[in-house]
Amino acid sequence: MSATPATRFEDIPLTEPDFSAIGSHVKALLAVLGSATSADQCLPALDDWNSLQCRVETFENLIHLRFEQDTANPARKAAREAWDEQRPRWIELKVEVKRALLAHPMRAEFEAAVGQQAFALWESSVLAFDAAIKESLVLESKLVAEYTELCASAELDYLGEELSLSTIQKYRQDADRETRHGAERVLWNWFQDKGASLDRIFDDLVRVRADMASTLGFDDFTDLGYKRMSRIDYGRTDVERFRAEIVSDVVPLCEELRKGQAERLGVESLMAWDEALQDSGGNPKPKGDEAWMLERSQEMFDAMGGDLGEFFRKMNSGGFFDLDSRKGKAGGGFCTSFPTHGMPFVFANFNGTLGDVRVLTHEVGHAFQNYSSNALSPVDYHWPTAESAEVHSMGLEFLTYPHMDSFFGEDGDRFRKVHLTLALLFLPYGTAVDHFQHLIYERPDATPAERHELWREMERIYMPGKDWGDLDYPGKGGRWQQQMHIYFEPFYYIDYVLAQTCALQFWAWAEKDREAAMKSYVELCRRGGSAPFQELVRGAGLVSPFQAGCLSDVVERARAVLSV
Ligand code: ZN
Repeated sequence: MSATPATRFEDIPLTEPDFSAIGSHVKALLAVLGSATSADQCLPALDDWNSLQCRVETFENLIHLRFEQDTANPARKAAREAWDEQRPRWIELKVEVKRALLAHPMRAEFEAAVGQQAFALWESSVLAFDAAIKESLVLESKLVAEYTELCASAELDYLGEELSLSTIQKYRQDADRETRHGAERVLWNWFQDKGASLDRIFDDLVRVRADMASTLGFDDFTDLGYKRMSRIDYGRTDVERFRAEIVSDVVPLCEELRKGQAERLGVESLMAWDEALQDSGGNPKPKGDEAWMLERSQEMFDAMGGDLGEFFRKMNSGGFFDLDSRKGKAGGGFCTSFPTHGMPFVFANFNGTLGDVRVLTHEVGHAFQNYSSNALSPVDYHWPTAESAEVHSMGLEFLTYPHMDSFFGEDGDRFRKVHLTLALLFLPYGTAVDHFQHLIYERPDATPAERHELWREMERIYMPGKDWGDLDYPGKGGRWQQQMHIYFEPFYYIDYVLAQTCALQFWAWAEKDREAAMKSYVELCRRGGSAPFQELVRGAGLVSPFQAGCLSDVVERARAVLSV
């Protein structure tokens, strides 16, 4: 334990950046860089630039978090809107510094000092921005906020309860089939009611994104989307090949898993409302409430070593968790960070299902990585690109397996099987989300109805057994509108699938040699974002998802464990 008092979330000040002061600061910094004749002279300027970015990013993350915690709060909403207006100015300043660094006469020397990856990242982000798209970026943020608010405002009446899109999930996996069916009906009726708004928001998003791509000189938004995701060491054709691998290796396995699920549930054919329930006895649930789960988590991370215990204690005692579901709170789970204080923050929406344990181990994985690498310079290394970052989160979901008995009691083994099954079933779904987005941005002028038909097509390829029965809205292709990433972060989704492919390897490795797998995991977290995806993966002793047959080992092992 550290001797200094732990940082507390509530003590992190909401200090609004003064953009005129920041503008002069950046000007002075550019002058120092411009006159530098050696990398040694550049490095203090880079440190200065790092701390300026930490201050602004702490503010930005705090503003976003406060909005997500209470989307109906007018002051928090106004603060977020004000920042969304300012943000393009900030991106512009960042791009200006990056351009100066990229064009610096001492670049080679500089690159040797800070690493190639920073330059590759800067190159990507410079290509993804021009002052001419500032207005479009503001509009994009507004549309994303509109989607968040619309979904957070959902009030679903079911079985005498008022539920949100998050809290209704518990009924989607109820042991009683009629209860599940009813919950799905209520959920999709809400989407049907809001369908026109959801279509309009997305249509506007596709248009504004297509406009930005054309202003920046890209053929379509997909190329820009890849730059925005900072994909350094792979491209569209690699992703295409990976998708084919999922279709050939994983889709057949998942169809068999669904058959086994139907048998366990005693239903003749598995309907959409059966999918969330893996076991006729009900999915295993954590045996206690949030406070109890935090206690079990502390014991678990203490036992796992690698500084995880001390880190978790700091997070918990400092108030860096917001885990319960509340009215007006945005949905989903995520991890953000306050780089001025070197602390991450975990946001979730607990609903009493096994998903609570999943989201906790997942987001703590992100948080631990950020905490482990937040001393790296430049700040661009604090978080890796998304597909690498999701290896830390999904990897921890698997590495915590032996401790799941303390959360699920006698259902520990059932939990592990359900979790592994869900991890495998996720692969085709996640791939469908990615493929869908490629089709969407290939045809930005498609009508909403055509987009829904494209999603149906994806279901036929990746989830051929899907049967929506009498649920009209998703039956006609509306399912994708529940997937917030399609609105928020185009092309993010394949990152989960790539990462799951790596996380499953951590699972298989830990089954054979837990100590070695843990050591590699902790080391991977420490490297943060200092290298591109495939280099990080190979460095951790894993097979790149872009290598043919990358999934065959884990698929074989999973078949043995799950008896399929
Ligand atoms: Zn994640």
